Amino acid sequence: MIDPFGRDVSYLRVSVTDRCDFRCQYCMTEDMDFLPKAEVLSLEELNRMCSAFIDLGVEKLRITGGEPLVRRNIMWLFEHLSQHLESGTLKELTLTTNASQLARFATGLHTCGVRRVNVSLDSLNPRKFDRITRGGDLEQVMEGITTAQAAGLQVKINMVALKDVNEDEIDVMLSWCGERGFDMTLIEVMPMGDMTGGRLEQYLPLSLVRARLEERWTLTDLDYKSGGPARYVKVGESGGRLGFITPLTHNFCESCNRVRLTCTGQLYMCLGREDSANLRTPLRQDSSDAALKSAITAAITRKPEGHDFVIDRRNQEPVLDRHMSVTGG
Ligand code: SAM
Ligand code: SF4
Repeated sequence: MIDPFGRDVSYLRVSVTDRCDFRCQYCMTEDMDFLPKAEVLSLEELNRMCSAFIDLGVEKLRITGGEPLVRRNIMWLFEHLSQHLESGTLKELTLTTNASQLARFATGLHTCGVRRVNVSLDSLNPRKFDRITRGGDLEQVMEGITTAQAAGLQVKINMVALKDVNEDEIDVMLSWCGERGFDMTLIEVMPMGDMTGGRLEQYLPLSLVRARLEERWTLTDLDYKSGGPARYVKVGESGGRLGFITPLTHNFCESCNRVRLTCTGQLYMCLGREDSANLRTPLRQDSSDAALKSAITAAITRKPEGHDFVIDRRNQEPVLDRHMSVTGG
């Protein structure tokens, strides 16, 4: 699937639920209204969706949410998707998780051909972790990470950099990842959804973080691309990689090869734009997948050249009134 700007769209991120056992401050409100079940695609429908994308050329699939591992019977979907790995049409099946349930699922995921997981972890301090996630249990997450590693999954840690919240821990996290052989990615907080928690106050430019880290660590730019928007450096002291995702201060759109599917079957061609295509209707109307596939192909022709994230500093309004748990981050 080639978009109008010549980019080969080969990476699909799929949100399998908008629900989560955490309520991270930058992602959700405390009292979220979740979607009615009828609007959410069934696991069978998600499997059909993913398979259609794979038929059309998607080679990398990332399962996300909400928290993907709280979706009931989620392993059924992984088991079905793993058949595309076996046939060779799919090159990578992976997921992004908060790791709270990873201890239960790590071995099963490995059996399904998953080799890498991204784990979101913003603090190594149990009390701070509880505060950021509004109730998350750090010990449970650590158990999930240890089990994943023992099961043979390569772990990458995603940390959202939050001013005055965890900025003092970035250094500690980098050491911790280095000791365990984990790559790490720092994410700038994005202006999405509810801004009442003071998202503007939480904004910490990663250019500043990098400058601070360079006082202690030897960071060398790498050409390495993970197929995502992160720019990577090599950390001299640990040999690990550190990524920076800076949607607000840099433009990473020129190499964007991804689209995102929500758990209700809306396809977003760009994380930073409102335009989306309804794929649920053609999916439900036509069991042959012909209508679905032509809707996908048509949507790809609408993939924009780039995003336009801006935090409106005067009005403190988010550009997009959409939560990350809807589009899956
Ligand atoms: N629940 C899983 C998790 O936390 O890894 C998967 C879904 S979560 C929405 C995916 C990623 O989006 C996480 O790494 C999370 O930190 C990130 N995220 C959520 N809201 C964000 C925001 N406003 N700005 C930047 N990153 C955000
Ligand atoms: Fe849940 Fe992930 Fe959002 Fe945190 S970032 S509330 S773990 S979906």
